[in-house]
Amino acid sequence: MHEFTLATALVDQLLRIAAEHRATGVTSVEVRCGVLQQVEPESLRFAFEALVRETVAHGAELRIVPEPVAAHCRACGREFAPGIDDYACPSCGRADAEVTAGRDVVLQSVGLVTAGETAA
Ligand SMILES: [Zn+2]
Repeated sequence: MHEFTLATALVDQLLRIAAEHRATGVTSVEVRCGVLQQVEPESLRFAFEALVRETVAHGAELRIVPEPVAAHCRACGREFAPGIDDYACPSCGRADAEVTAGRDVVLQSVGLVTAGETAA
């Protein structure tokens, strides 16, 4: 299951960040979800909640923000939003585009609960 694999990677990253900050809890998690990944938000949420159940991130609010596809034309440099399977540049008409957004699932921001800085 695609979403479970993605959720596992996200939760690994999340728990690493929480550990680095000695967090005692996680309030919110924002995930930018490239539309090319074709993620089912409900499946991702289900996997996420199952994975954080026994961790400090238990009860965190997961926000899934869809990221549209963007492309950069290698021929003329224009940035544009390609259609599904249509990567022709609207300026020069060439189909020599590099996808610059919409491909990845990224942990965008994390709200942590920390016990406060301990005086050194
Ligand atoms: Zn172009």
